[in-house]
Amino acid sequence: MLIDSHAHLDSAQFDPDREHVVRRALEANVKIISIGTDVPSSQKTLEIARKYELRCTVGVHPHEAEQFSEEETLAQLRRLCAEPEVVAVGETGLDYFKEYAPRPAQQMAFRAQLALAQELQKPVVIHLRDAAEDLLKILKEHPGVRGVAHSFTGDWALAQELLDLGLYLSVNGIVTFEKSHALREVIEKIPLERLLVETDCPYLAPVPVRGKRNEPSFVRYVAQTVAQIKRLSTEEIAQATTRNTQELFGL
Ligand SMILES: [Zn+2]
Repeated sequence: MLIDSHAHLDSAQFDPDREHVVRRALEANVKIISIGTDVPSSQKTLEIARKYELRCTVGVHPHEAEQFSEEETLAQLRRLCAEPEVVAVGETGLDYFKEYAPRPAQQMAFRAQLALAQELQKPVVIHLRDAAEDLLKILKEHPGVRGVAHSFTGDWALAQELLDLGLYLSVNGIVTFEKSHALREVIEKIPLERLLVETDCPYLAPVPVRGKRNEPSFVRYVAQTVAQIKRLSTEEIAQATTRNTQELFGL
């Protein structure tokens, strides 16, 4: 069994055939955590989780941070978090690469969601791109917060800082790309008990299906590559990452 710890099943790209996508995952013995990216997306993700008996998260992505209001949005997320399918807050975080929302708005939304996660004692799903310094600073304002840095592509120094804060690191199809030599070297050093796997579908399809629409059943290609890097069997990677994901999200 594998768990795709980060899938965007609410994506419109899955509207025509979501049922088949979920069935292919079940047939491949892959469980799914579907990730919300704003309030409507979180509501849709929750409905999908209910329908297919999956787990999900609710949150506001840094790209959408300008819509975040500390009263209304936070109250909506708090209400959604009470549903039994919801296992974490997120995805939230900072993205200074695309910077679709102004940095102060991203920081405010991130702080508010970290505080919500602490209040509700839920883990957080963190998106980080080109904003490590501010992200680490804000994380340190919320000691004891548990979570995962998803789509991890940083260097070993950043990995160590995130691991020291108690976070898990999640890897996806990027690890299978020809050019990701440096990332593979970092993953070799990440302790097995802190590693998760994900697809981030419908984006970032791994080799050998690169360029196609990604889906949860393809997480096996990520696990196979991680197994090669760690010189372990795919089964050992599956067992370890499943256990880690269950621990983190209380599954
Ligand atoms: Zn995502």
